[in-house]
Amino acid sequence: MINSEDIVYACTCDFAGKTRGKGFPAADMEKRLKRGIGWAPTNTQITCFDAIAPSPFGALGDRVLIPDAGTRVTLRSQELGLSEDFVLGDLYTTDGQPWALCPRSILKTALERLRRVADLSLIASFEHEFQFRGAGMGRGTAYALQAFRPNRVFAERLMGAMRAAGLEPDTIMKEYGADQFEVTMDPARGVSAADHSVILRQLVYAVAESCGHAATFTPLQDPAGIGNGVHIHFSFVDENGAPATYDPQGKHRMTAYASAFAAGILRHVDEIMALLAPSVVSYGRLTPHRWSAAFNNLGVQDREATLRICPVSAMSDIDIARQFNLEFRAADACASPYLQLAALVHAGCQGIEDGLVAPDATEEDLATLPQEALEARGLRRLPSSLAQALEIFAASDHVRNWFGEEFVTVYPLHKKGEMDFVAEMSPEDMHRAYALVY
Ligand code: GLU
Ligand code: MG
Repeated sequence: MINSEDIVYACTCDFAGKTRGKGFPAADMEKRLKRGIGWAPTNTQITCFDAIAPSPFGALGDRVLIPDAGTRVTLRSQELGLSEDFVLGDLYTTDGQPWALCPRSILKTALERLRRVADLSLIASFEHEFQFRGAGMGRGTAYALQAFRPNRVFAERLMGAMRAAGLEPDTIMKEYGADQFEVTMDPARGVSAADHSVILRQLVYAVAESCGHAATFTPLQDPAGIGNGVHIHFSFVDENGAPATYDPQGKHRMTAYASAFAAGILRHVDEIMALLAPSVVSYGRLTPHRWSAAFNNLGVQDREATLRICPVSAMSDIDIARQFNLEFRAADACASPYLQLAALVHAGCQGIEDGLVAPDATEEDLATLPQEALEARGLRRLPSSLAQALEIFAASDHVRNWFGEEFVTVYPLHKKGEMDFVAEMSPEDMHRAYALVY
């Protein structure tokens, strides 16, 4: 008799925001935690469409993907229709240095900077929207119990899978958009917050599949329809774990560090948009009146602000200082969550180092203001295309300092490869192509 053998898939979430890796027998886990698995450096140039963008490495070289045992997800349940076993990890050079192009290592470097400049740790949670492709739920389904009911099995399996994977489920709903859902989870500290986003995306794919659906996180499936955002909530704790974001006396009730961090993000947001909203279709979503984000503005409880100060409730069992958090809304799931968080942390740290103060919050519809009025208040539209975002990214000395020369050279090559792949497509085909791969 032959027994089938459990396999663990060791993964990195790469420049394309895709979770890719290689499998090995689960029995070899201990060995693989030391030895890792081999990874070709050119793999980093595999775009979301699998076309390989120009690579400085060609067929040469090797990197090693070392799994982080704490991230392993093992979910085998016939009842839930799930058979998952994967682990996330970091890419190293063969002499044991973190690789300059490893997204997870890049995030670790950014988080160390935050500790250095402010002695703070980041707490974050990624809020995800997605759709079932071609589910045809029709109208009258926004937030509707009537539309949730036939998807209760999916939602309940997902909650179970999240909890089993170490993610604390928060809410799930039939979102406003066609065939759209949103799922939220409790925040986690540092790298784990990004790990949880990677894991959540995979669980959504897997559980949807077990229910006969195909989930897509594409930022914009139908250009005339509603987008799928990733809203990144974050706050800080000090070295004792005490909340460090809320100060009732501070501007917009933020601590000085939180205020400077917010100001840094808004000052540098154009330079990092190519990491936060990194696909060609991302920029159709980042237009006014979509409840996403279109300007470099701060808003208090404003769902069209790039950076939103979230509400706190006196009725909650959680202390206000711990509830208080900021939300970055101009992100989507075509990105590696590691690079997204690293970009926000570097821009925020720059704000702290430069002693910035958060700008005044906007309260009106910025799309109706004339250009001069916007300029007078330091407000501008976010980049309107990936090409523009990449140009600003590549020209930024800040980005070069934060991410290093190699990253700033190679990442745009990857993205240009992706742009070339869709360049000749009709808008319809392009949106479909993205919906299929995300
Ligand atoms: N779907 C909106 C977006 O693209 C977000 C809606 C909301 O949850 O506020 O970001
Ligand atoms: Mg939502």
